[in-house]
Amino acid sequence: MKAIAVVPGKRQVALIDHEAPNLDEPTHVKLRMLDVGICGTDREICAFQYGTPPVGESQLVIGHESLGEVIEVGSGVTRLRPGDLVIPMVRRPCPHAHCTACRAGRQDFCFTGDFAERGINKLHGFMTEFVVDDERYMHVVPRALRDVAILVEPLTIAEKALLQVDDIQERLPWACGFVPGKPRQACHRAVVLGAGPVGLLGAMALVARGFDTSIYSRELAPNPKVDLAAAIGARYFSAQDTSLEQLAARIGNIDLVYEATGASAVAFQMMKVLGTNGIFVFTGVPGRKAAIEVDTDAIMRNLVLRNQVVFGTVNAGHDAFSAAVGDIGVFAERWPEAVRSLVTGRHPVEAYRDLLVGPAQGIKNVLAFA
Ligand code: BGC
Repeated sequence: MKAIAVVPGKRQVALIDHEAPNLDEPTHVKLRMLDVGICGTDREICAFQYGTPPVGESQLVIGHESLGEVIEVGSGVTRLRPGDLVIPMVRRPCPHAHCTACRAGRQDFCFTGDFAERGINKLHGFMTEFVVDDERYMHVVPRALRDVAILVEPLTIAEKALLQVDDIQERLPWACGFVPGKPRQACHRAVVLGAGPVGLLGAMALVARGFDTSIYSRELAPNPKVDLAAAIGARYFSAQDTSLEQLAARIGNIDLVYEATGASAVAFQMMKVLGTNGIFVFTGVPGRKAAIEVDTDAIMRNLVLRNQVVFGTVNAGHDAFSAAVGDIGVFAERWPEAVRSLVTGRHPVEAYRDLLVGPAQGIKNVLAFA
């Protein structure tokens, strides 16, 4: 069967013929892959800066954002049936008995670092025609969401972040006033740094929760990302004509920053304008560039005097996947055009090279395997 793989030792990215997988366990399901998304992580793996093939193998089948259709189930499968559309999770637990996170099914918080990730780290991924895995890693999506379901995995990043924000902000009276029978009022102001798929999906998740949401990104208006922000009721500010100080002055107390750029310089500058009781979420993974100067006194002063929290988040557990499936449904109902416009290209498998190693283009590009 066809698969897209990297061979780090030979610095190659290739369309290969890969052995089709079998149902080896009663709880295994076989999927026919429909869509596989391309993200910055895939592009980094294809630039040989990240990613590890399975032990003893020289190549790694990539792809971790995916939508598959169940075509076969093992005798012990109870939840899934052929015809179901599913999103497979990415991370698999480490083997160590002392890793309480993995043993509790929370490999997204693995302590040891010995986890595996399909398409990224020690396990082949989903950029192929057929995939076999355990049913416990599959999240069903309604068929009505077929066209946009590929956005579930990148949305899980925001969902996991916002679940943690809810937990962490219980440290203070953070909940917004709610009058029964009246629409929920936005009482918190959020800034999303970056207008790629992770940022735009994060902005949708924030708006859907009632945050007064602003997106801060490079591109000047007019451009499709500005239109998209307007369509979901978010404000858009370009870093090219608005400084961070101006941004803060326009917004007021910035309660939450959702960083989705992987650019550390702007992120650490942004920290300086985080508001009182504010919470700052890092999701980007910067490449190793030259060291930059950071005003640590100002940042530390604010962290203390303004009761701030800064945290990083990676990967996602079952709760975030379930929330993402639900939210994609909410977004598709509320902003059907905007959600569809995030998928800027659905390409044949043979177009993989340009999309993975050519100049970045569009918002979310998808390889259509079926
Ligand atoms: C994936 C996560 C993964 C992370 C680090 C991201 O692109 O969405 O599932 O944990 O990369 O490898």
